[in-house]
Amino acid sequence: MREQLDQLLRDAREKIPMAPDMAALDVLELECLGRKQGTLTAVLRGLGALSEAERKVAGQHGNAVKQDIEQLLAAKRAELTRARIATLAQDEWVDMTAPGTTLPRGAVHPVSRAISEIAAIFERIGFIRSRHPEVDSDYYAFEALNMPVGHPARDEWETFFVAHATGGGGKKKEGGRIVLTPHTSNGQVREMEKGLLPIRMVNIGKCYRRQIDATHTPMFHQFEGLLVDQDVSVTHLKGTIDYFVRAYFGEERRTRLRPYHFRFTEPSFEIDISCAVCGGTGFLSSSFRGVRNEGSRPSQDQATKCKTCKSGWLELGGAGMVHPNVLVSGGIDPKRHRGFAFGWGVERVLMMKYGISDIRLLYGNDVRWLRAC
Ligand SMILES: [Zn+2]
Repeated sequence: MREQLDQLLRDAREKIPMAPDMAALDVLELECLGRKQGTLTAVLRGLGALSEAERKVAGQHGNAVKQDIEQLLAAKRAELTRARIATLAQDEWVDMTAPGTTLPRGAVHPVSRAISEIAAIFERIGFIRSRHPEVDSDYYAFEALNMPVGHPARDEWETFFVAHATGGGGKKKEGGRIVLTPHTSNGQVREMEKGLLPIRMVNIGKCYRRQIDATHTPMFHQFEGLLVDQDVSVTHLKGTIDYFVRAYFGEERRTRLRPYHFRFTEPSFEIDISCAVCGGTGFLSSSFRGVRNEGSRPSQDQATKCKTCKSGWLELGGAGMVHPNVLVSGGIDPKRHRGFAFGWGVERVLMMKYGISDIRLLYGNDVRWLRAC
């Protein structure tokens, strides 16, 4: 056994000083002194076969060998540590002033950004953004908005119906057919039903219609403003729309209201804004381009018609004073309160602002859109 122990120590003396790094040293330690697999443990297992006197001598020798190996390991460990510290400044220096690695960045989708901008513009004049269901009952989408079952006005909103067990236990509002909302106006009566007056709401949400072409997608976004208070007039509506148009499109843009018909407003208007391409004149010419004064309209022979607007005005969306029947649906007395509402597509204003000709480009999953943003 003595010979085995000496051999073990000789091996250790040879190998340990040669260990190139800490990891190799750890492996050697385990090899020599490991409690289960170590070589010293293996040798000492033979102690049991010796006589008591021999065992005492061999045991002492084993301990001495163990201490020698531990000293060898500690010395080598100290040496490796000193070497690492000596070269640390060289090996691990970091230039804190070096520019960082640029990571690929995404961007907010133009439609999402437009929604944030629109909400912020209305928040500045006291409108609070609220959310209402994008899948709703026939009642809130049509009936409460002065469009009873079977009314032809519903035909304008070709929409999607959800397969759904009808009935609702006789509850008219929640029962009946369920639709993917074709407009955000379903939020009007829902907002009124909260019972908090006055109302200054801007509801922005997804809408669905069975249409697809250059200006329509089956899913799109609308924003809808609703104000209900005492002594509200068309002047307030016009002022609010003027404010929005100037804030979103630019100070030089003007608006006009054209009489129209919607079931849930009376009177109703279509809103037009002045064309940015021809400055609202309807004509383009080198000498008149950029002129924003309507009074300086050039004669036909001096200019060509503006292809963007053809008339100086672009259609923006619909608006009007809330119909008394809608106020009644929302539990509001039309003799004491009046309101105005307006709403149109988020994609539409985005396209008008940036001159995008086809709405489908917004949803074509072309990453160049995001890079351009
Ligand atoms: Zn124009």
